This record gives sequence, structure tokens and C-alpha cells, in this order.
Amino acid sequence: MIIEDKEFGEVIVRKSPLARNIKFSISTSGRLQMSVPQYTSEFLAKRFLTSNRKMIREKLPVKDPREQRARDYQKKQLMKRAKEYLPYRLEYYAKLYGYTYDKCRLSHANTRWGSCSSNRTISLNIGLMKVPEPLRDYVILHELAHLNHMDHSKAFWAEVGSHDRNYKAHEKKLKMFSPGV
Ligand SMILES: [Zn+2]
Repeated sequence: MIIEDKEFGEVIVRKSPLARNIKFSISTSGRLQMSVPQYTSEFLAKRFLTSNRKMIREKLPVKDPREQRARDYQKKQLMKRAKEYLPYRLEYYAKLYGYTYDKCRLSHANTRWGSCSSNRTISLNIGLMKVPEPLRDYVILHELAHLNHMDHSKAFWAEVGSHDRNYKAHEKKLKMFSPGV
């Protein structure tokens, strides 16, 4: 459940059967997070928040809610653009070079641009929408080549190279960007 608070913005409330009392922490996105016993009502959670306001202000580094909202908006827009583009681009290259995959997933991991799993699911990071097209295509071709080679062997790179002659330069340039949103 999410509580909208005037001071702290969106507060994440996690219900846990193991929690005996209410604990405050900071989520990875910088939001205030409360873990509460399973049957805590919204009313009660709000009341605890209010009575702990001073402690939270002093002890927890809650990010500015405006900053949170700006980042959420940006992520949403990126996801929207990615949805309308990446699956189709993947399909295009798969058809062009005769690959068959099972599923295309969109991810927003902070560390990788893409991945290919043994069950033939290809994940592409929505952050790809922020990099130049040749680099984006390189990532797609890289993941497609993993359908035939689940490693980074010579044979794998030869296959990537047969579809993207500049793959080495693209791999290098990609390091200047970060997949995190
Ligand atoms: Zn790889």
C-alpha cells in the first residue's frame, strides 16, 4: 500500500506477517518505507507516521518527493517509448537473421543492458531508449547471438560480428552510458 504524505511524498507500506512492530527504512528509490504487521489499517499506519515525524526527519535520508516524482515520470515515459519500440526492433532483427526466441521482456535493472536466458527469453533494458541507435541495435544483436551461444566464446563474437561489423566499437561506446534510469 502507498500512503501519500505531505512532507515525505509517497510512503511505501509493506505488510509482513512476521513484523511485530512498525519499522521505518528507506527504499532503494529513496522513498520512506514502513514495514508493519499484517493487519495494520491505513489509518493506523498514517497515525504512526505522524507520531514519528520528528524521528524520521532527523534520522532517515528521505529524498525530496518532487525529485521522486520527476524520476518516476521519466521512467514511465521511457517505459512507454520502450514498449512501442524494443519488442518490434527485436522481432525485426530476429526475422532478418533467422532467430527464434520465446519472449521479449523489458527490464529496468541498473547494471545490464540486456540478457538472454536458457528458456529463450530476451530481456532488454528500457534505458536503451537513451542511447544512440547503432548501440541499441548492437545490444539486440548481441542478445540474439546468445540464442546460439550462451557464452562469450570466439564463435559467439564471430556471430555478433557477422551482423554488426562495428560491434567492438559499439561495445566500447556503450560503456559511456549507464543503464540505470
Ligand atoms: Zn553477452
